[in-house]
Amino acid sequence: MNNTVKEINTKRLDIISGDYEKCIEEASRILKNQGIVAVPTETVYGLAASAFSDYAIKKVFEAKGRPQDNPLIVHISNMDMLESIAKSIPESARKCAEKFWPGPFTMVLERKPVIAQSVCGGLDTVAVRMPSEKSIRDIIDCSGLPLAAPSANISGAPSPTTFSHVLADLDGKIDAVVCGNTCEVGVESTVVALFGEKPRLLRPGAVTLEQLKEVLPDIEVDKAILSQPEAGKKVASPGMKYKHYAPKTDSFLVEGSSKAFGDFVNKKENCLALCFKEDEEFITAKKMIYGTKNDESTLAKNVFGALRDVDGMGVSAVYIHAPSKSGVGLAVYNRLIRAAAFRVIEL
Ligand code: AMP
Ligand code: MG
Repeated sequence: MNNTVKEINTKRLDIISGDYEKCIEEASRILKNQGIVAVPTETVYGLAASAFSDYAIKKVFEAKGRPQDNPLIVHISNMDMLESIAKSIPESARKCAEKFWPGPFTMVLERKPVIAQSVCGGLDTVAVRMPSEKSIRDIIDCSGLPLAAPSANISGAPSPTTFSHVLADLDGKIDAVVCGNTCEVGVESTVVALFGEKPRLLRPGAVTLEQLKEVLPDIEVDKAILSQPEAGKKVASPGMKYKHYAPKTDSFLVEGSSKAFGDFVNKKENCLALCFKEDEEFITAKKMIYGTKNDESTLAKNVFGALRDVDGMGVSAVYIHAPSKSGVGLAVYNRLIRAAAFRVIEL
């Protein structure tokens, strides 16, 4: 018996080597019947359900073990859908849509009541994104449904960037997975609130703060992006108060030069250094490279896969070399500081 082959209980819709159109139709059929389907997007794999169905959304929360007060992003494929779910669309939202859609950008607007209550975690706003990945757009078009889709992982675990990650977490708990390529961006979308007095960055992503400032010069950055929200305090984006993206292994974020990082980890026992290519020559401890220091897009693409691989390395702690906070680096830093439960070591 081959112990390495695990039986899979989830319907696989293979859009790479299978019949693309049939897969899209089948995913749409399941979603119209209030089922839940994991789908690739350019950011991470999402667990999709009809945004009109409280029944289907409940299954998404259950499969993920996600807290009910953490709202979901609704995915659309055209501007008419935005009109149908947002109560009002300010000029700033139209400008952002023109510049950043389709793509890894989410806007939070006041909502209309058509969207299922459970999608929005009890808030009167809705988060909306128009993804660039063709397959999810085709499923939205084919089903005619806006799709609420959080990342397709067990709540708290690193987000999935391959369909194998999805199956590792959710096999047997979902109706189907659309099997596509590894996600191009690798971290979740940039989230911006556009309903208040001033635009506010709630979560950094591949659309960078620098790019946002060109369209929204008065954008504010929510404090919770880089620091732990105070216990019991209300946060603008409910997802930010939860520990997230974490391997089971004890994780720490470390700031410092390659040499200082090497000197630090080399003294630790039974640990792993999750590091840059440039650090390699300074490290004698076990190491895993997640990219080069100045190529933040590649770090973003690799970070969640690396966090998932950490648990198989047989170590008792992982020390992660922190990226810069500029460009897409801010998004990677934001995920890593949460993976490390806000434990940052400055060398
Ligand atoms: P995920 O589904 O894992 O990509 O997470 C979605 C993120 O969007 C979470 O951090 C949510 O808190 C945030 N979000 C979704 N809807 C809203 C909303 N109406 N207001 C503020 N943040 C939201
Ligand atoms: Mg998530």
